[in-house]
Amino acid sequence: NARGRARVVVAKAAAGEYSDYGASTRFDELPLSTKTKDALRQQGYKEMSEIQRAALPHALCGRDVLGAAKTGSGKTLAFVIPVIEKLYREKWSQEDGVGCIILSPTNDLAGQIWEVVRKVGKHHNFSGGAIVKRTGIEQEKERINSLNILVCTPGRLVQHFDETPNFDCSNLQILVLDEADQILDQNFKSQVDIIISQIPKVRQTLLFSATQTKSVKDLARVSLKNPEYISVHEQA
Ligand code: ADP
Ligand code: MG
Repeated sequence: NARGRARVVVAKAAAGEYSDYGASTRFDELPLSTKTKDALRQQGYKEMSEIQRAALPHALCGRDVLGAAKTGSGKTLAFVIPVIEKLYREKWSQEDGVGCIILSPTNDLAGQIWEVVRKVGKHHNFSGGAIVKRTGIEQEKERINSLNILVCTPGRLVQHFDETPNFDCSNLQILVLDEADQILDQNFKSQVDIIISQIPKVRQTLLFSATQTKSVKDLARVSLKNPEYISVHEQA
């Protein structure tokens, strides 16, 4: 059954220091801040989905993760929770600047991801937002360095690298690629290469998509370090 199969994935993957959490099935069993646990409970999230059970223990202890699971399986929380917990543990504040970038292939999806960050992070003090075309680049230029969590398309981010003179990502802790197979696609190649060249090499990287993006070439481009490959398949 689904639960039995998920346990196999987790047990294999969780042989390290966080093995105690590898068998967790509920969010409240994970080592999360009270602020995050409260928000999750208030949103009605109790049991983790399979991809969340498999990915969260690794992502929460700072490992790079390449996660694949079908659409609707709950991948957003699998990266939003580690992002929020990382900034919380680092005692991140507005003055620390951009701590996390979440790349999305479309503005619409960026907006949806930001809504999840906002809800799960509502008891925390971080700033952030989806930076999308209609909000106006000129206003963004003035406040972008005070946003701790940026959610945007690769194109929008490159626009800031090009046009915003003091745009500073030198403190970046986590890079997330949602719909990673699309972001690593040829269409975004030149933009993603610019982004990777502009952000710190020492960072955590989380990639999630509906299909397994295992092309070695693709992954070399985003320089994953010793990533955990997690793939949750539909039952036959
Ligand atoms: P994906 O990105 O894998 O397509 P989403 O992250 O968009 O999936 O989640 C799909 C839906 O499932 C959303 O409505 C989300 O609120 C819901 N969801 C995610 N995780 C859980 C969970 N652990 N328990 C209940 N609902 C969940
Ligand atoms: Mg998704």
